[in-house]
Amino acid sequence: MARVFNFSAGPAMIPEPVLAKAAAEMVEHHDHGMGVMEMSHRSKMYEEIIFGAEAKLRSLMNIPQTHKILFLQGGASLQFAMIPMNLMTRTGKADFVNTGMWSKKAIQEAKKYGTVNVLASSEDKNNTYIPTLDPAKFDKDASYLHITTNNTIFGTRYRELPDVGDVPLVADMSSNILSEVYDASKFGIMYAGAQKNIGPAGLTVVIIREDLMGKTLPGTPTMLDYTVHYDKDAPFNNAMYNTPPTYSIYIAKLVFEWLEAQGGVPAMQKINEYKAGLLYDFLDNSKMFNGPVQKEYRSLMNVPFVANSEELNEKFIKESSKAGFVNLKGHRSVGGMRASIYNAMPTEGVQALVNFMKKFELDNK
Ligand SMILES: *Cc1c(COP(=O)(O)O)cnc(C)c1O
Repeated sequence: MARVFNFSAGPAMIPEPVLAKAAAEMVEHHDHGMGVMEMSHRSKMYEEIIFGAEAKLRSLMNIPQTHKILFLQGGASLQFAMIPMNLMTRTGKADFVNTGMWSKKAIQEAKKYGTVNVLASSEDKNNTYIPTLDPAKFDKDASYLHITTNNTIFGTRYRELPDVGDVPLVADMSSNILSEVYDASKFGIMYAGAQKNIGPAGLTVVIIREDLMGKTLPGTPTMLDYTVHYDKDAPFNNAMYNTPPTYSIYIAKLVFEWLEAQGGVPAMQKINEYKAGLLYDFLDNSKMFNGPVQKEYRSLMNVPFVANSEELNEKFIKESSKAGFVNLKGHRSVGGMRASIYNAMPTEGVQALVNFMKKFELDNK
């Protein structure tokens, strides 16, 4: 069977050249006489991989030396707890914006460790927009302000970052890290589960400003203290306190190299804008399909859409899947369809989907 266009929200597509390279190196990596999965994480040959991945990510995202890069586990979901455990001690409270299910989970978890102030919510319109934030309402004493830069389920994204002043900005970037240019120096923490836009599940990337570490809540498990994972005096940040997800980090490094070869994040952003534009232009002109998200907040990564009847939604999911466009079923809280078009989804995949939708609309008039 040929490879399909996989529109899964995550785990999602990996660039094919990366898969091919990993396959070629599976049994024997370079001239090491073993595969990456079999290497000691403390060996020189593995250090080249993990520190190489770290250096490549730093360069791709232009991360300043004030910020440390950690390769952790537990997914973005563990960060929902780890962040308050490490940061909330500063003042005992934090500001949050509720833009959908993942923000809500982050809010629920943070409430266990301090006072959570929800600045704004988009729940009134089923999270089809990003609420306007009034900086006058920001708590100057908040330990941090938390946002979800891209809302995977609802297909919204921030076009502008909130102006937080001296309060650290903490961002869940699980579904749009490396897809558009961000100024890393503006963030206290940027974090992401790897399985959407980086590589395999099992790796969580945390980019954290150094001065935010070291004020951990008493009783915090050792593994959940950022300082334990960070080597202060070494040229590379990852201290490898315990065994890191070695193979996932290796694939992430190959993805970072692939991204460099595409021209880096600015080039990727252009491609992503073009790709998403193909779909949104079609939706705007279609009489059968439409996207629920307010135009200015449309995500470049996750595009939800619905046909004009439940019957057609079902028919579309069935027929598109047969034609090699898989995992288009929308999240149950939105219904209809959702096309997740992360970095690894080629432009041809989106173009082919649009052509399929056009034909489906004609055939089902
Ligand atoms: C997928 C996702 C999560 C959950 O990630 P896990 O790595 O499965 O814990 C959290 N936030 C956002 C924005 C996501 O897209």
